Amino acid sequence: MPKITGIQTIRTRANGTWLFVKILTDQPGLYGIGSVSDHFRAPVMQAAIENLAPRLIGRDTSRIEDVWRSIHFSAYWRNDALSNTAQAGIDMALWDILGKEAGMPVYRLLGGKVRSAVLAYAHAAGNDLAELEDDVRRYMAEGYSVIRCQLGPYGGGGFLKGTAAGFPQHHWPQDAAFDDEAYLDAVPRMFEYLRNKIGFEPKLTHDVHEHLMPHNAVHLAKRLEPYRLFFLEDLLQPEQVGWYRQVRQACVTPQAMGELFTNPHEYLPLLAERLIDFIRVRVSKGGGITQCRKIAAVCEMFGVRTAWQEGGDNDPVNQMAAVHLDLASPSFGVQEENHFAPEEYDLFPGHARLEGGYLYANDTPGLGIDIDEVKARTLLNPELASRSYLYPEDRRRDGELVAP
Ligand SMILES: [Mg+2]
Repeated sequence: MPKITGIQTIRTRANGTWLFVKILTDQPGLYGIGSVSDHFRAPVMQAAIENLAPRLIGRDTSRIEDVWRSIHFSAYWRNDALSNTAQAGIDMALWDILGKEAGMPVYRLLGGKVRSAVLAYAHAAGNDLAELEDDVRRYMAEGYSVIRCQLGPYGGGGFLKGTAAGFPQHHWPQDAAFDDEAYLDAVPRMFEYLRNKIGFEPKLTHDVHEHLMPHNAVHLAKRLEPYRLFFLEDLLQPEQVGWYRQVRQACVTPQAMGELFTNPHEYLPLLAERLIDFIRVRVSKGGGITQCRKIAAVCEMFGVRTAWQEGGDNDPVNQMAAVHLDLASPSFGVQEENHFAPEEYDLFPGHARLEGGYLYANDTPGLGIDIDEVKARTLLNPELASRSYLYPEDRRRDGELVAP
């Protein structure tokens, strides 16, 4: 059996927010790669991997479950975003190695394909309704059948500016205020407009990004019912998921939730009570392929679908891990897409191919994706990478911070 001889990190993207692990083995040319990216804490993740490495050197690469548990308990406290990401990256790399040893793509190790390609949803946005309609039509023309619709940034439609914002004296230095009622008004109008203009054929979703107070969130789900969404995403913040019972009682709008979940205690009750319809955990934040294939299996038992989170800050290696799970999971629902710049795709030979609203893996053994380390180093801009990247803040008119 191959043994782990070294763990390297590769930091890239121009701003240095992508981080990967490369697990080296005692077998010539045999290595695996995994994603340990955390957009907001790349240097912290780098230190976490360096801290873990001594425990893993010499371990048998095929003992994936045992390594997973060994890392899981290695710092006593567990189930947080950073620990899960470290576990996930190592886990992806070990699945990659196992596939290369077996001469099979990872989806075959997971039980084989249950679908021929991965349905992906697009991100349409516009600062006004006409702009949004154009973007939706553009994606429809590209072949997408599921399209997320947003009025500009998260919370878009709910921001008031100038005198309409009603700022108090000496207010927080902000130029817009998020207002629940404005959002509650704008989003149903957005879907009314889109359904009138383009009909009910495209499957539409919307991401609330937790901006609303819970009672208003229930109201929004009910108001959107006539527009027959594919799903409504992140209606509530993770701390308020108990309100999904009220949402279920109020309407049949399908619910997608969970990109911020890291602990099984957060998602198991929602699955077991069938309070959500799609789970949105990010593969790396959930604990990797090993943990997410178990989540997918639980979803299958309870009739819930997976919609693993991707989004702008994520990387092609994590995306590839999701695609392998998607291909082999009967509980797969839809996959969030990602667009990367051409010079970024160029770093990753074998990356998933996005075409006509579907993602395709290749049949290369392992994850089927590699990293060109020379190009990765060249792309990294040291000045940009030295900066701090923290989540932007939205606030209400009195300055109160809105959950992101
Ligand atoms: Mg979301």
